[in-house]
Amino acid sequence: MDAAPRVFADLPSDPELSVPVPFAAGPDVGYADRPEGAGLSARHLDKRRVTQCALSRICGVCGSSLGRPLAFFGSQRELDRMAFHFPASHLECAQALLAAYADVDEPVLGQDTAPADWVLVTTASFEFVRANKEDLDRRPIFQPNSLLTTAPPG
Ligand SMILES: [Zn+2]
Repeated sequence: MDAAPRVFADLPSDPELSVPVPFAAGPDVGYADRPEGAGLSARHLDKRRVTQCALSRICGVCGSSLGRPLAFFGSQRELDRMAFHFPASHLECAQALLAAYADVDEPVLGQDTAPADWVLVTTASFEFVRANKEDLDRRPIFQPNSLLTTAPPG
């Protein structure tokens, strides 16, 4: 397991999009399976990191331990389905990330839509659901299991 708690300001930057790359997208370079400078991208989530976030209850943005409330962000469709792909985050981290991504006009972080379409919500707990073999979308999802509140964007 990678232990990499860090603060938002220290997140590495996507060389192409010039936005911070959150923990769940694989911010740490230099691991054996991730050579220096390789694979540093905000476009997709790292499935191993997503699972680590869920099982260790750490923030998908900064990689340190979660408290409450938990924040989830994603497309309106994810909210409608109560199935988020990006791991739970600190509310402050989620707000900082969304602010940093405000000018990105293409789908990133494994989402189907650009950040302008995303919603930010808070909850107290969630279930982590791994995909079944027969699922078309094999990515694990996070299902908030208490009442969500829509959080202010920043
Ligand atoms: Zn955080």
